Amino acid sequence: MIQLYIPLNFLGVLYREIKQSLTDLDKMFTLLERPREVADAPDAPALQVTGGAVRFENVHFAYDPARPVLQGVSFEIPPGKKLAVVGPSGAGKSTLSRLLFRFYDVGSGRITIDGQDIRSVSQHSLRSSLGIVPQDAVLFNDTLAYNIGYAREGATLAQIEAAAQAAQLHGFVASTPQGYETRVGERGLKLSGGEKQRVAIARTLLKDPPILIFDEATSALDSHNERAIQAQLDAVGRNKTVLVIAHRLSTVVDADEILVLEHGRVVERGRHAELLAAEGAYARMWALQASEGRG
Ligand code: ATP
Repeated sequence: MIQLYIPLNFLGVLYREIKQSLTDLDKMFTLLERPREVADAPDAPALQVTGGAVRFENVHFAYDPARPVLQGVSFEIPPGKKLAVVGPSGAGKSTLSRLLFRFYDVGSGRITIDGQDIRSVSQHSLRSSLGIVPQDAVLFNDTLAYNIGYAREGATLAQIEAAAQAAQLHGFVASTPQGYETRVGERGLKLSGGEKQRVAIARTLLKDPPILIFDEATSALDSHNERAIQAQLDAVGRNKTVLVIAHRLSTVVDADEILVLEHGRVVERGRHAELLAAEGAYARMWALQASEGRG
């Protein structure tokens, strides 16, 4: 019986390993998914970030030519300021961050950082100046230390710990069986939505880029977690240029400018109080969220 059990158990492990590797590969391809036309210009210089001003100038974009997604979007985020984008699902909000990362090129118009068209600089230099705290952080099947530290080549354990402290993740790490050496991901410890977001925040802190994008989670965290994460995001974003893709209006109240995007067009823009006073689309969204108790 024992003899039979061992090989079967072994096969089971092997099967799981293969299945997980396939999942990993799948994830990797999703991560690496880039349309072929996005290529560096020959001898593309590195982006020179002076202040971190981000500008979208009359940007048009479509994934599929038959369906325009952005239809003439313009805005500027001055260095160190925070711009929030709100609007219904499918309006094109996350597309703005994909274009800023240059996963796709704009159809027409242009995107600049400190006056340099992002198509004219090397993609490596562009992406190293941008940080994103995504809706759902991808965890690698590796240790917590690796998962936090991979954003910055050669990060020391002391730096990783400092970032985890600042992201309020250290207490959680300390409670895991092997601390920073604890394996996470599908093959290791499963992390909650809030813990994953803290890993993403710690990564971003470690990378310390001048321009940040927060793609807020649509899935609700509990309100205690949400307030804590919001406070950490505010701390991470201090003195940086910040683009917030917002799903909850409560997080945009202090933005320097709010854009309301509908069907790929900016239909309103201004600060929170101005937009409420205008009694338009933003005021209606606000009233709706407040009535749902989500404001
Ligand atoms: P949500 O609030 O639901 O996250 P969003 O405003 O961020 O929505 P986007 O993700 O920017 O919306 O998507 C805008 C439109 O582009 C949607 O109609 C979506 O279906 C489409 N779209 C997004 N990604 C792709 C893609 N890779 N290929 C084709 N169409 C896409």
